[in-house]
Amino acid sequence: MPSLSEETSGSITMLQPGATIGIVGGGQLGRMMALAAKYHGFRIGVLDPTPDCPTAQVSDFQIVAEYDDRKAIHELAERSDVLTYEFENVDADALDEVRGKTAVPQGTDLLRVTQDRVFEKQFINDHGTQTAPWRQVDDFDQLVRAINDLGYPAVLKTRRGGYDGHGQLVLHSDDDLDIVRKREQDTGIFPPSILEGFVDFAFEASILISGNGKDFVTFPIVRNEHRHNILHLTIAPATVDDEVAQETEALALRLANGFELAGTLAIELFITKDNKVIVNELAPRPHNSGHYTIEACSISQFDAHIRGIAGWPLPKPELLSPAVMANVLGQHVAPTRAMIGAHPEWNLHDYGKAEIKHNRKMGHVTVLTSDTASAVSELEATGCWSDLED
Ligand code: AMP
Repeated sequence: MPSLSEETSGSITMLQPGATIGIVGGGQLGRMMALAAKYHGFRIGVLDPTPDCPTAQVSDFQIVAEYDDRKAIHELAERSDVLTYEFENVDADALDEVRGKTAVPQGTDLLRVTQDRVFEKQFINDHGTQTAPWRQVDDFDQLVRAINDLGYPAVLKTRRGGYDGHGQLVLHSDDDLDIVRKREQDTGIFPPSILEGFVDFAFEASILISGNGKDFVTFPIVRNEHRHNILHLTIAPATVDDEVAQETEALALRLANGFELAGTLAIELFITKDNKVIVNELAPRPHNSGHYTIEACSISQFDAHIRGIAGWPLPKPELLSPAVMANVLGQHVAPTRAMIGAHPEWNLHDYGKAEIKHNRKMGHVTVLTSDTASAVSELEATGCWSDLED
């Protein structure tokens, strides 16, 4: 494959328009990355087991195979100038294997750290940043000791593979401990886990940071509202004191520096009533809470990701307008589509998924507004999201 990455700017090798970016994973994040990449003239290849997946619909080619199919990852690497991924459970060894064939600007350290909650918490703490108090627990006795240390309530999470609250359990009392004991007895398995102290947060927030390996830029801090552990609303910007904004930006920069970040990293946060900023978890990729950036910022999280992995300079993202983003899950598809005519102010995104399922992320709506509280009320008043009301 001809090298399309010869132009250099300082020490950064810059990928040229016409080069091919390979994406492992073909869901909505890959699709929005691909759409951003297309503006710069990049070609896109995607590896995903579902033919005509959301990313394939806007890509140049698809390799239809499982994400952990090594032969397929090699093929994608051979046909791409740069590899990236849209989710964190990619086989890091497989990516290391193909580094002779293609560039992997994000490296694999970021993946290895964010795939494992123990490594992740340790990395965050080592970079001067607060998490919930936590203990590694590999068996039931360790869990009992950890509960003695941290007290109730506490959150038990599997070290690997959890998302949107899957693989986690809030423990309120010894009765809940008994549930865990019984589960271990029934299955004979105690998955490697961590126990976290329960954070009594005022609200949840997140910040995105993007880099090209050398320079880093942050997006505004936003407020996130979850329902049943799935993101429902993002409100941009979050209303926070200056000290919270400064600490959030500073911790994002410390983490990005630590990773020599290329591409976009999402940092999920708890903000406490006494203005402490606590990192919950990291996502080494664009994030659902950053979808608002497509319309509301001078550069989107997807464009920043593409520029970053292409070794391009990154402009500082500016918030052009406050915004509210609401997720469209399977049960919201019909009602939100019925509203297209009535709501020209809605930026309705649909991910092109063939199968509509309850709680599956199918699209989102972003509303630009000068008054986010009113926009939230107006969105809720449509009744489209009434199933999520408390
Ligand atoms: P996670 O899968 O780690 O993002 O957790 C899913 C959700 O569970 C978070 O968005 C929080 O609402 C809640 N949660 C997770 N960890 C804690 C904690 N240590 N204290 C309080 N709430 C938590």
